[in-house]
Amino acid sequence: MFKKNAWNKYNEKDLKKLTDFCEDYKEFISVCKTERECVNYSVELIEKLGFKNINTLKSIKPGDKIYAVNKGKNICVFVIGDEPISNGINILGAHIDSPRIDVKQNPLYESEGFAYLDLHYYGGIIKYQWVTIRLAIHGVLCKKNGEIINVNIGENENDPVFVITDLLPHLGADKLSKTGNKVVEGEDLDLTIASMPLKDSDKEAVKKNVLKLLKDKYDIEEDDFVSAELEIVPEGKARDLGIDRSMILGYGHDDRVCAYTSLRAVLDAGKCKKTICAYLVDKEEIGSVGATGAHSLWFQNTLAELINLENNNYNDLLLRRALSNSSMLSSDVSAGFDPLYSNVFEKKNACFLGHGITFNKYTGARGKSGCNDAMPEYMAKIRKIMDDNNVNYQTAELGKVDIGGGGTIAYIMGNQNMNVIDAGVPVMSMHAPQEVVSKADVYEAYLGYVAFVKEA
Ligand code: MN
Ligand code: MN
Repeated sequence: MFKKNAWNKYNEKDLKKLTDFCEDYKEFISVCKTERECVNYSVELIEKLGFKNINTLKSIKPGDKIYAVNKGKNICVFVIGDEPISNGINILGAHIDSPRIDVKQNPLYESEGFAYLDLHYYGGIIKYQWVTIRLAIHGVLCKKNGEIINVNIGENENDPVFVITDLLPHLGADKLSKTGNKVVEGEDLDLTIASMPLKDSDKEAVKKNVLKLLKDKYDIEEDDFVSAELEIVPEGKARDLGIDRSMILGYGHDDRVCAYTSLRAVLDAGKCKKTICAYLVDKEEIGSVGATGAHSLWFQNTLAELINLENNNYNDLLLRRALSNSSMLSSDVSAGFDPLYSNVFEKKNACFLGHGITFNKYTGARGKSGCNDAMPEYMAKIRKIMDDNNVNYQTAELGKVDIGGGGTIAYIMGNQNMNVIDAGVPVMSMHAPQEVVSKADVYEAYLGYVAFVKEA
Protein backbone atom coordinates (compact mmCIF):
# COMPACT_ATOMS: atom_id res chain seq x y z
CA MET A 1 0.00 0.00 0.00
CA PHE A 2 2.75 2.40 0.97
CA LYS A 3 3.60 5.16 -1.53
CA LYS A 4 2.04 3.63 -4.60
CA ASN A 5 0.52 5.57 -7.40
CA ALA A 6 -3.23 5.49 -6.82
CA TRP A 7 -4.11 5.63 -10.51
CA ASN A 8 -3.00 1.99 -10.95
CA LYS A 9 -5.72 0.60 -8.73
CA TYR A 10 -8.79 2.09 -10.41
CA ASN A 11 -11.09 0.15 -12.73
CA GLU A 12 -13.56 1.81 -15.11
CA LYS A 13 -16.22 2.12 -12.41
CA ASP A 14 -13.78 3.71 -9.95
CA LEU A 15 -12.64 6.20 -12.58
CA LYS A 16 -16.23 7.21 -13.25
CA LYS A 17 -16.85 7.79 -9.52
CA LEU A 18 -13.59 9.70 -9.19
CA THR A 19 -14.38 11.92 -12.16
CA ASP A 20 -17.92 12.65 -10.95
CA PHE A 21 -16.63 13.51 -7.49
CA CYS A 22 -14.01 15.86 -8.92
CA GLU A 23 -16.62 17.60 -11.10
CA ASP A 24 -18.60 18.34 -7.92
CA TYR A 25 -15.45 19.62 -6.26
CA LYS A 26 -14.55 21.82 -9.24
CA GLU A 27 -17.96 23.44 -9.03
CA PHE A 28 -17.45 24.02 -5.30
CA ILE A 29 -14.13 25.86 -5.65
CA SER A 30 -15.26 27.71 -8.75
CA VAL A 31 -18.18 29.21 -6.82
CA CYS A 32 -16.79 29.40 -3.27
CA LYS A 33 -13.92 31.88 -3.07
CA THR A 34 -14.60 33.31 0.40
CA GLU A 35 -15.40 31.73 3.77
CA ARG A 36 -18.95 33.08 3.62
CA GLU A 37 -19.47 31.61 0.16
CA CYS A 38 -18.24 28.21 1.44
CA VAL A 39 -20.62 28.36 4.41
CA ASN A 40 -23.61 29.43 2.30
CA TYR A 41 -22.92 26.73 -0.30
CA SER A 42 -22.60 24.08 2.43
CA VAL A 43 -25.85 25.13 4.14
CA GLU A 44 -27.74 25.03 0.85
CA LEU A 45 -26.33 21.58 0.06
CA ILE A 46 -27.02 20.02 3.47
CA GLU A 47 -30.48 21.51 3.99
CA LYS A 48 -31.54 19.68 0.81
CA LEU A 49 -30.31 16.49 2.53
CA GLY A 50 -32.41 17.11 5.63
CA PHE A 51 -29.83 18.65 7.96
CA LYS A 52 -31.40 20.93 10.60
CA ASN A 53 -30.01 24.06 12.23
CA ILE A 54 -29.10 23.28 15.86
CA ASN A 55 -31.02 26.37 17.01
CA THR A 56 -34.32 24.81 15.93
CA LEU A 57 -33.95 21.57 17.95
CA LYS A 58 -35.39 20.55 21.34
CA SER A 59 -33.58 17.20 21.60
CA ILE A 60 -31.38 14.90 19.53
CA LYS A 61 -31.21 11.16 18.88
CA PRO A 62 -28.93 8.80 16.90
CA GLY A 63 -29.17 9.41 13.16
CA ASP A 64 -30.09 13.09 13.51
CA LYS A 65 -28.43 15.37 10.96
CA ILE A 66 -27.50 18.76 12.41
CA TYR A 67 -25.49 21.85 11.55
CA ALA A 68 -24.41 25.02 13.33
CA VAL A 69 -23.11 28.23 11.75
CA ASN A 70 -20.91 30.78 13.51
CA LYS A 71 -21.28 34.39 12.35
CA GLY A 72 -21.67 33.29 8.73
CA LYS A 73 -17.99 32.34 8.53
CA ASN A 74 -17.58 28.87 9.96
CA ILE A 75 -19.74 25.80 10.21
CA CYS A 76 -20.03 22.43 11.96
CA VAL A 77 -21.98 19.59 10.38
CA PHE A 78 -22.88 16.57 12.56
CA VAL A 79 -24.50 13.19 12.16
CA ILE A 80 -25.40 11.92 15.63
CA GLY A 81 -24.08 8.40 16.32
CA ASP A 82 -25.27 5.47 18.42
CA GLU A 83 -22.85 6.11 21.29
CA PRO A 84 -23.20 9.04 23.70
CA ILE A 85 -21.26 12.17 22.72
CA SER A 86 -19.15 11.93 25.87
CA ASN A 87 -17.58 8.78 24.34
CA GLY A 88 -15.95 11.17 21.88
CA ILE A 89 -16.73 12.14 18.32
CA ASN A 90 -14.84 11.71 15.06
CA ILE A 91 -13.96 15.10 13.62
CA LEU A 92 -12.71 16.21 10.21
CA GLY A 93 -11.42 19.78 10.59
CA ALA A 94 -10.51 21.89 7.56
CA HIS A 95 -10.16 25.60 6.87
CA ILE A 96 -12.19 27.53 4.32
CA ASP A 97 -10.14 30.73 4.23
CA SER A 98 -7.44 30.92 1.55
CA PRO A 99 -4.58 33.32 0.89
CA ARG A 100 -5.82 36.38 -0.99
CA ILE A 101 -5.63 40.17 -0.98
CA ASP A 102 -8.09 42.16 1.13
CA VAL A 103 -9.37 45.69 0.52
CA LYS A 104 -8.22 48.23 3.15
CA GLN A 105 -10.75 50.18 5.23
CA ASN A 106 -10.04 53.48 3.51
CA PRO A 107 -9.14 52.12 0.10
CA LEU A 108 -10.38 54.35 -2.70
CA TYR A 109 -8.01 56.89 -4.24
CA GLU A 110 -7.22 58.50 -7.57
CA SER A 111 -3.81 58.95 -9.12
CA GLU A 112 -3.08 60.49 -12.54
CA GLY A 113 -6.41 59.56 -14.02
CA PHE A 114 -6.79 56.08 -12.54
CA ALA A 115 -8.91 55.02 -9.58
CA TYR A 116 -7.45 52.38 -7.29
CA LEU A 117 -8.40 50.27 -4.29
CA ASP A 118 -5.58 50.08 -1.75
CA LEU A 119 -5.04 46.49 -0.59
CA HIS A 120 -3.54 44.49 2.28
CA TYR A 121 -2.67 40.87 1.62
CA TYR A 122 -4.11 38.06 3.77
CA GLY A 123 -1.99 35.00 4.53
CA GLY A 124 1.37 34.00 3.14
CA ILE A 125 1.40 34.98 -0.50
CA ILE A 126 4.33 35.39 -2.89
CA LYS A 127 3.40 38.93 -3.88
CA TYR A 128 4.91 38.93 -7.37
CA GLN A 129 2.55 36.07 -8.37
CA TRP A 130 -0.52 38.28 -7.97
CA VAL A 131 0.23 41.01 -10.52
CA THR A 132 -1.05 41.09 -14.14
CA ILE A 133 -3.64 38.36 -13.58
CA ARG A 134 -7.39 38.77 -13.84
CA LEU A 135 -8.91 39.41 -10.42
CA ALA A 136 -12.45 39.46 -9.04
CA ILE A 137 -13.97 41.16 -5.98
CA HIS A 138 -15.97 38.94 -3.59
CA GLY A 139 -17.37 39.92 -0.23
CA VAL A 140 -19.76 42.03 1.78
CA LEU A 141 -20.29 45.67 2.67
CA CYS A 142 -22.16 46.20 5.94
CA LYS A 143 -24.16 49.39 6.15
CA LYS A 144 -24.94 51.32 9.32
CA ASN A 145 -28.63 50.43 9.01
CA GLY A 146 -27.77 46.71 9.31
CA GLU A 147 -28.15 45.97 5.62
CA ILE A 148 -25.51 43.63 4.16
CA ILE A 149 -24.62 44.13 0.50
CA ASN A 150 -23.17 41.06 -1.23
CA VAL A 151 -20.53 41.87 -3.81
CA ASN A 152 -19.35 39.52 -6.54
CA ILE A 153 -17.79 41.20 -9.58
CA GLY A 154 -15.61 39.44 -12.14
CA GLU A 155 -16.91 35.87 -12.29
CA ASN A 156 -19.67 36.25 -14.86
CA GLU A 157 -18.18 36.44 -18.36
CA ASN A 158 -20.03 39.72 -18.92
CA ASP A 159 -18.55 41.21 -15.75
CA PRO A 160 -15.53 43.48 -15.81
CA VAL A 161 -12.39 42.19 -14.07
CA PHE A 162 -9.60 43.97 -12.19
CA VAL A 163 -5.80 43.90 -12.19
CA ILE A 164 -2.70 44.88 -10.27
CA THR A 165 -0.34 46.25 -12.91
CA ASP A 166 3.39 45.53 -13.21
CA LEU A 167 6.34 47.26 -14.80
CA LEU A 168 7.36 46.40 -18.36
CA PRO A 169 10.76 44.60 -18.72
CA HIS A 170 12.09 47.48 -20.83
CA LEU A 171 11.96 49.70 -17.74
CA GLY A 172 12.36 46.98 -15.13
CA ALA A 173 16.16 46.74 -14.71
CA ASP A 174 16.26 48.34 -11.23
CA LYS A 175 13.22 46.47 -10.04
CA LEU A 176 14.48 43.10 -11.27
CA SER A 177 17.75 43.50 -9.37
CA LYS A 178 15.75 43.30 -6.10
CA THR A 179 15.26 40.07 -4.15
CA GLY A 180 12.06 38.09 -4.75
CA ASN A 181 10.30 39.29 -1.61
CA LYS A 182 10.97 42.95 -2.53
CA VAL A 183 10.35 42.88 -6.25
CA VAL A 184 6.66 43.54 -5.59
CA GLU A 185 6.06 45.04 -2.14
CA GLY A 186 2.89 45.04 -0.09
CA GLU A 187 2.08 48.68 -0.74
CA ASP A 188 2.50 48.11 -4.48
CA LEU A 189 -0.49 45.77 -4.47
CA ASP A 190 -3.20 48.25 -5.46
CA LEU A 191 -6.10 47.29 -7.64
CA THR A 192 -6.84 49.25 -10.81
CA ILE A 193 -10.60 49.75 -10.92
CA ALA A 194 -11.40 52.69 -13.23
CA SER A 195 -10.11 55.38 -15.60
CA MET A 196 -13.17 57.33 -16.81
CA PRO A 197 -13.79 60.78 -15.30
CA LEU A 198 -17.20 61.97 -14.20
CA LYS A 199 -18.28 64.44 -16.87
CA ASP A 200 -17.72 68.12 -16.10
CA SER A 201 -16.03 67.38 -12.83
CA ASP A 202 -12.57 68.82 -12.19
CA LYS A 203 -10.99 67.32 -9.04
CA GLU A 204 -10.76 63.53 -8.58
CA ALA A 205 -13.20 63.05 -11.43
CA VAL A 206 -12.43 59.33 -11.89
CA LYS A 207 -12.92 58.60 -8.20
CA LYS A 208 -16.16 60.59 -8.24
CA ASN A 209 -17.35 58.51 -11.17
CA VAL A 210 -16.57 55.30 -9.25
CA LEU A 211 -18.54 56.58 -6.26
CA LYS A 212 -21.46 57.43 -8.51
CA LEU A 213 -21.42 53.91 -9.99
CA LEU A 214 -21.27 52.36 -6.53
CA LYS A 215 -24.15 54.55 -5.37
CA ASP A 216 -26.27 53.67 -8.41
CA LYS A 217 -25.57 49.92 -8.38
CA TYR A 218 -25.24 49.09 -4.66
CA ASP A 219 -26.53 52.20 -2.85
CA ILE A 220 -23.25 52.51 -0.95
CA GLU A 221 -21.19 55.52 0.11
CA GLU A 222 -17.40 55.77 0.39
CA ASP A 223 -17.66 55.46 4.20
CA ASP A 224 -19.24 52.00 3.84
CA PHE A 225 -15.80 50.58 2.92
CA VAL A 226 -14.98 51.04 6.62
CA SER A 227 -17.32 48.15 7.49
CA ALA A 228 -16.63 45.89 4.53
CA GLU A 229 -14.98 42.53 3.99
CA LEU A 230 -13.93 42.59 0.35
CA GLU A 231 -11.58 39.89 -0.88
CA ILE A 232 -9.60 40.16 -4.11
CA VAL A 233 -9.28 36.71 -5.65
CA PRO A 234 -8.33 35.24 -9.04
CA GLU A 235 -11.33 35.25 -11.39
CA GLY A 236 -12.57 32.21 -13.24
CA LYS A 237 -13.42 28.58 -12.78
CA ALA A 238 -11.21 25.67 -11.79
CA ARG A 239 -10.12 23.67 -14.84
CA ASP A 240 -8.83 20.22 -15.65
CA LEU A 241 -5.05 20.28 -15.91
CA GLY A 242 -3.01 18.14 -18.30
CA ILE A 243 -3.74 16.36 -21.56
CA ASP A 244 -4.82 13.35 -19.48
CA ARG A 245 -7.05 15.56 -17.28
CA SER A 246 -5.42 13.99 -14.22
CA MET A 247 -5.10 17.22 -12.23
CA ILE A 248 -7.11 20.31 -11.33
CA LEU A 249 -5.78 23.86 -11.62
CA GLY A 250 -7.69 26.32 -9.49
CA TYR A 251 -7.70 28.97 -6.81
CA GLY A 252 -8.05 27.98 -3.13
CA HIS A 253 -7.29 24.24 -3.04
CA ASP A 254 -5.62 25.16 0.28
CA ASP A 255 -7.75 24.23 2.03
CA ARG A 256 -11.08 24.01 0.29
CA VAL A 257 -10.04 20.68 -1.25
CA CYS A 258 -9.94 19.19 2.24
CA ALA A 259 -13.02 21.16 3.36
CA TYR A 260 -15.13 19.80 0.50
CA THR A 261 -13.90 16.20 0.84
CA SER A 262 -14.45 16.35 4.63
CA LEU A 263 -17.96 17.73 4.24
CA ARG A 264 -18.86 15.13 1.62
CA ALA A 265 -17.39 12.35 3.80
CA VAL A 266 -19.71 13.28 6.68
CA LEU A 267 -22.73 13.56 4.37
CA ASP A 268 -22.02 10.24 2.67
CA ALA A 269 -20.98 8.23 5.75
CA GLY A 270 -24.38 8.74 7.41
CA LYS A 271 -25.06 7.38 10.90
CA CYS A 272 -22.01 5.78 12.52
CA LYS A 273 -21.17 4.29 15.90
CA LYS A 274 -19.80 7.62 17.05
CA THR A 275 -21.10 11.08 16.28
CA ILE A 276 -19.25 12.43 13.25
CA CYS A 277 -18.45 16.02 12.42
CA ALA A 278 -17.05 18.22 9.67
CA TYR A 279 -15.70 21.42 11.25
CA LEU A 280 -14.88 24.12 8.70
CA VAL A 281 -13.01 27.10 10.13
CA ASP A 282 -11.93 30.58 9.13
CA LYS A 283 -8.65 32.49 9.73
CA GLU A 284 -6.24 29.53 9.55
CA GLU A 285 -4.01 31.42 7.15
CA ILE A 286 -3.49 34.20 9.71
CA GLY A 287 -3.05 32.04 12.81
CA SER A 288 -6.55 30.64 13.52
CA VAL A 289 -7.34 33.72 15.59
CA GLY A 290 -10.64 35.39 16.42
CA ALA A 291 -14.20 34.21 16.98
CA THR A 292 -14.41 32.25 13.73
CA GLY A 293 -10.91 30.69 13.84
CA ALA A 294 -9.98 27.35 15.38
CA HIS A 295 -8.80 29.02 18.63
CA SER A 296 -12.36 30.21 19.27
CA LEU A 297 -14.45 28.60 22.02
CA TRP A 298 -17.25 28.19 19.49
CA PHE A 299 -16.53 24.53 18.76
CA GLN A 300 -16.66 23.64 22.47
CA ASN A 301 -19.80 25.73 22.90
CA THR A 302 -21.48 23.88 20.03
CA LEU A 303 -20.52 20.52 21.52
CA ALA A 304 -21.93 21.72 24.87
CA GLU A 305 -25.22 22.55 23.13
CA LEU A 306 -25.31 19.05 21.62
CA ILE A 307 -24.68 17.46 25.02
CA ASN A 308 -27.49 19.57 26.45
CA LEU A 309 -29.84 18.44 23.68
CA GLU A 310 -28.77 14.82 24.15
CA ASN A 311 -29.31 14.71 27.92
CA ASN A 312 -31.84 17.50 28.34
CA ASN A 313 -29.27 18.81 30.79
CA TYR A 314 -25.75 20.22 30.51
CA ASN A 315 -22.90 18.75 32.48
CA ASP A 316 -19.41 20.19 32.11
CA LEU A 317 -17.75 16.85 32.82
CA LEU A 318 -19.54 15.29 29.84
CA LEU A 319 -18.13 18.02 27.59
CA ARG A 320 -14.60 17.50 28.88
CA ARG A 321 -14.92 13.74 28.37
CA ALA A 322 -16.27 14.30 24.87
CA LEU A 323 -13.24 16.44 23.95
CA SER A 324 -10.68 14.07 25.49
CA ASN A 325 -12.24 11.01 23.85
CA SER A 326 -12.55 12.57 20.40
CA SER A 327 -10.40 11.76 17.39
CA MET A 328 -9.62 14.22 14.65
CA LEU A 329 -8.04 14.44 11.27
CA SER A 330 -6.79 17.96 10.70
CA SER A 331 -7.79 17.94 7.06
CA ASP A 332 -5.22 20.23 5.54
CA VAL A 333 -3.14 20.20 2.42
CA SER A 334 0.49 19.17 2.22
CA ALA A 335 3.34 20.47 0.04
CA GLY A 336 3.43 18.13 -2.96
CA PHE A 337 6.86 17.21 -4.35
CA ASP A 338 7.70 19.43 -7.31
CA PRO A 339 10.38 17.95 -9.65
CA LEU A 340 11.31 21.49 -10.73
CA TYR A 341 12.25 22.35 -7.14
CA SER A 342 13.38 18.95 -5.86
CA ASN A 343 16.23 20.46 -3.81
CA VAL A 344 13.90 21.69 -1.04
CA PHE A 345 12.39 18.25 -0.44
CA GLU A 346 13.75 15.15 1.27
CA LYS A 347 12.42 12.55 -1.12
CA LYS A 348 11.82 9.68 1.31
CA ASN A 349 9.64 11.96 3.42
CA ALA A 350 7.86 13.95 0.73
CA CYS A 351 4.38 13.44 -0.69
CA PHE A 352 3.78 12.94 -4.38
CA LEU A 353 0.76 13.97 -6.41
CA GLY A 354 -1.32 10.93 -7.30
CA HIS A 355 -0.06 8.81 -4.41
CA GLY A 356 -3.02 9.43 -2.12
CA ILE A 357 -4.02 11.12 1.13
CA THR A 358 -0.98 12.42 3.01
CA PHE A 359 -0.40 12.15 6.75
CA ASN A 360 1.89 14.69 8.38
CA LYS A 361 2.66 13.37 11.85
CA TYR A 362 4.18 16.77 12.51
CA THR A 363 4.71 20.10 10.78
CA GLY A 364 6.28 23.11 12.52
CA ALA A 365 9.66 24.74 11.93
CA ARG A 366 13.17 24.70 13.42
CA GLY A 367 12.83 21.29 15.05
CA LYS A 368 9.04 20.77 14.95
CA SER A 369 8.46 23.96 16.92
CA GLY A 370 4.82 24.94 17.25
CA CYS A 371 3.36 21.78 15.79
CA ASN A 372 1.13 18.93 16.87
CA ASP A 373 3.36 15.87 16.86
CA ALA A 374 0.78 13.09 16.72
CA MET A 375 0.83 10.03 19.01
CA PRO A 376 2.32 6.95 17.30
CA GLU A 377 -0.46 4.81 18.84
CA TYR A 378 -2.97 7.02 17.07
CA MET A 379 -1.09 6.85 13.75
CA ALA A 380 -1.06 3.03 14.06
CA LYS A 381 -4.82 2.98 14.47
CA ILE A 382 -5.29 5.32 11.50
CA ARG A 383 -3.04 3.36 9.15
CA LYS A 384 -4.95 0.19 9.99
CA ILE A 385 -8.18 1.96 9.03
CA MET A 386 -6.63 3.16 5.75
CA ASP A 387 -5.26 -0.32 4.91
CA ASP A 388 -8.50 -2.10 5.84
CA ASN A 389 -10.38 0.20 3.46
CA ASN A 390 -7.86 0.05 0.59
CA VAL A 391 -7.13 3.80 0.78
CA ASN A 392 -3.88 4.96 -0.82
CA TYR A 393 -1.96 6.97 1.72
CA GLN A 394 1.51 8.40 2.10
CA THR A 395 3.40 10.28 4.80
CA ALA A 396 5.32 13.51 4.49
CA GLU A 397 7.17 16.34 6.15
CA LEU A 398 7.04 19.93 5.02
CA GLY A 399 10.28 19.92 3.04
CA LYS A 400 13.85 19.43 4.29
CA VAL A 401 14.44 19.76 8.04
CA ASP A 402 16.00 23.22 8.13
CA ILE A 403 14.03 24.60 5.18
CA GLY A 404 10.44 23.64 5.96
CA GLY A 405 8.05 25.59 8.11
CA GLY A 406 4.34 25.91 8.65
CA GLY A 407 1.39 24.94 10.76
CA THR A 408 -2.25 23.92 10.73
CA ILE A 409 -5.14 23.79 13.20
CA ALA A 410 -3.96 20.36 14.47
CA TYR A 411 -2.19 21.62 17.62
CA ILE A 412 -5.13 23.83 18.59
CA MET A 413 -7.52 20.90 18.72
CA GLY A 414 -4.77 18.76 20.29
CA ASN A 415 -4.68 21.29 23.14
CA GLN A 416 -8.22 20.14 23.99
CA ASN A 417 -6.68 16.71 24.65
CA MET A 418 -8.02 14.91 21.61
CA ASN A 419 -5.90 12.82 19.27
CA VAL A 420 -5.17 14.74 16.07
CA ILE A 421 -3.07 14.17 12.98
CA ASP A 422 -2.77 16.22 9.81
CA ALA A 423 -4.19 14.43 6.79
CA GLY A 424 -4.92 15.94 3.42
CA VAL A 425 -4.26 16.41 -0.25
CA PRO A 426 -0.80 17.20 -1.68
CA VAL A 427 -0.77 20.58 -3.48
CA MET A 428 1.76 22.08 -5.87
CA SER A 429 2.23 25.87 -6.14
CA MET A 430 0.54 26.20 -2.75
CA HIS A 431 -0.68 29.75 -1.94
CA ALA A 432 -0.26 30.82 -5.58
CA PRO A 433 -3.25 32.26 -7.46
CA GLN A 434 -3.60 28.91 -9.23
CA GLU A 435 -2.74 25.79 -7.25
CA VAL A 436 -2.42 22.20 -8.52
CA VAL A 437 -3.90 18.98 -7.12
CA SER A 438 -4.23 15.46 -8.50
CA LYS A 439 -7.76 14.16 -8.91
CA ALA A 440 -6.61 10.81 -7.49
CA ASP A 441 -5.61 12.52 -4.24
CA VAL A 442 -8.90 14.40 -4.01
CA TYR A 443 -10.71 11.07 -4.31
CA GLU A 444 -8.39 9.17 -1.93
CA ALA A 445 -8.76 11.94 0.67
CA TYR A 446 -12.53 11.60 0.42
CA LEU A 447 -12.31 7.78 0.77
CA GLY A 448 -9.87 8.12 3.66
CA TYR A 449 -12.11 10.61 5.47
CA VAL A 450 -15.16 8.34 5.07
CA ALA A 451 -13.20 5.38 6.47
CA PHE A 452 -11.98 7.53 9.39
CA VAL A 453 -15.35 8.84 10.51
CA LYS A 454 -16.86 5.35 10.31
CA GLU A 455 -14.11 3.47 12.12
CA ALA A 456 -11.96 5.72 14.32
MN1 MN B 1 -3.89 24.97 4.85
MN1 MN C 1 -2.15 27.70 3.71
